[in-house]
Amino acid sequence: MSEYVTRLMTQVAAKNPGEPEFHQAVHEVAESVDIALARNPRYIDAAIFDRMVEPERVLMFRVPWVDDRGKVHVNRGFRVEMNSAIGPYKGGLRFHPTVYLGMLKFLAFEQVFKNALTTLPMGGGKGGADFDPKGKSDGEVMRFCQSFMTELQRHIGQFTDVPAGDIGVGAREIGYLFGQYKRVRNEFTGVLTGKGLSWGGSLIRPEATGYGSVYFAREMLATRSETLEGKSCLVSGAGNVAQYTVEKLLDLGAKVVTLSDSGGFVHDKDGIDREKLDYVIDLKNVRRGRIMEYVERYPDAEFTPVDPSRHWNPMWAVEADCAFPSATQNEINDLDAKNLLDGGVYVVSEGANMPTEPKGVERFLAAGILYGPAKAANAGGVAVSGLEMSQNSSRLAWNRDDLDRRLQQIMGAIHENVRATAEMYGVPGNYVHGANIAGFAKVADAMIDQGVV
Ligand code: NAP
Repeated sequence: MSEYVTRLMTQVAAKNPGEPEFHQAVHEVAESVDIALARNPRYIDAAIFDRMVEPERVLMFRVPWVDDRGKVHVNRGFRVEMNSAIGPYKGGLRFHPTVYLGMLKFLAFEQVFKNALTTLPMGGGKGGADFDPKGKSDGEVMRFCQSFMTELQRHIGQFTDVPAGDIGVGAREIGYLFGQYKRVRNEFTGVLTGKGLSWGGSLIRPEATGYGSVYFAREMLATRSETLEGKSCLVSGAGNVAQYTVEKLLDLGAKVVTLSDSGGFVHDKDGIDREKLDYVIDLKNVRRGRIMEYVERYPDAEFTPVDPSRHWNPMWAVEADCAFPSATQNEINDLDAKNLLDGGVYVVSEGANMPTEPKGVERFLAAGILYGPAKAANAGGVAVSGLEMSQNSSRLAWNRDDLDRRLQQIMGAIHENVRATAEMYGVPGNYVHGANIAGFAKVADAMIDQGVV
């Protein structure tokens, strides 16, 4: 690494103590940006990367709410407005007990580069709260969302900052959040994406992240004249991204053999077909149950619970051709990456954000497999959010085929941009450098045009 990047990383660590995920995300981009800086010293003169690692604005606020028994609770809410050089801040809200400032800074930072790759004009942001919707009644979730939005509404708007869903924030939460925004502001605008279809939402938005990650894998395979037909696939998670990843894999003739949640994973050797997927969708989205219940319904499948004493995940040791990590950050460590490679996996398309630890990434790159990093592979979700914003602005609703075609075009364009950038910078096949450099250059050029702000 150059002296410039080494100094910057030291500064980032010193100024953002106790935020390891943020350091990890910056470090990964810095390694790629180093290559771009060597060819474009004007980015150093304008201190572009120094500015990119500093959020434009961070909001942190109290979220008080009352449970069904009348007890008062207090959570902490956040919105990190990271970079608005190419458009309004855009990025999801996460409700999970592990949420803290450093996690949202990592997610907001990643979002800046991802959004730049989508071809659409969106800046980067991320927010959320350390609230756990699990086990809460609909009334409790509604009261929490209303309290959260009562403060957040001061800071967001269709032209400034447009949040969406993420872990723990699905259709139900977006509904409650939108309802409160509309009530307090007395305006019906596209301030959130992921809305219901009858009140400004877009077709294909729920499907977009999962479908997009499969389309990205399809593009990577096409560079080797291969398809997903007949490929055996591991999918982690059982939420929004995982469900639609499985759906699209089935459409394209692949066989999916795993799903998981924070309690463990199921391995179904016969494959998770359409009927079994419908069962999982109902289990997770309606009954809000646990993935272990899958084996009660399909006893030929096996459930393996999480064992906290084990420092690797046996799901990633199941033999397969492709892996679609779609649960959470750092779910694949060095040993998991080794197990994936040993088990025959040669395509990894990241639906989750930063699911692979740095040592795992190094392994994938060294092995020369088709490794699609999150910034590129899961950009389909925010891309269709961008299309939802366009539809809201024009007060039109596009049809499903049109939106799916646009999503496929966008994923194709992202793949081509990332592939070509990697080649141009002398690292062919390295989608990590390709994505980071392509995203960085777009934002950096806009920042230079706009002066020191
Ligand atoms: P979701 O619907 O809430 O589902 C998350 C899934 O991951 C659940 O099965 C959950 O299990 C599991 N999970 C969460 N935290 C975990 C942990 N610490 N250990 C093990 N499993 C865990 O969320 P989602 O929208 O699918 O998001 C999944 C990933 O995709 C996240 O990294 C998110 O940032 C990323 N992403 C989402 C979108 C989008 O459009 N939704 C777009 C881009 C990227 P439990 O229910 O047991 O917690």
